[in-house]
Formats: sequence, structure tokens, C-alpha cells
Amino acid sequence: MEKVIHCRDVGYDCDGVIRAKSEEEALQMAAEHAKSIHGLEEVTREVVEKIKSVMREEPPGAG
Ligand SMILES: [Zn+2]
Repeated sequence: MEKVIHCRDVGYDCDGVIRAKSEEEALQMAAEHAKSIHGLEEVTREVVEKIKSVMREEPPGAG
């Protein structure tokens, strides 16, 4: 299963979807996305918890 984060679920008006093989990688990619695309200055514990709460598991290749 892949870890999948839909950016919209985090609260952004964005169709971005992050897919990774591990939770750690997904969190890192989501943080980079939020910084580069949405101008987030700092990834706080709250942001990390929010991202974790919306993280899904999907079979590889789905969507
Ligand atoms: Zn986004």
C-alpha cells in the first residue's frame, strides 16, 4: 500500500496529491509541497498532525 495525502484534505484549495512508500517520505514530500507551492514558512507539529490525520493508504497505481 502507498501512503497518499490529498492536499485539499489538509485544508488547501489544491488538487495536489502526494504519494509515497512510507509515512516518513509522505510527510517530507507534503512538507516540501506546502512550502514551495503554498508558501508555508514552517512545518509545525500541528501541520504534521493534520497531515497525518488525512493520510490514506491506497494500492500502488490507484488513481
Ligand atoms: Zn497543494
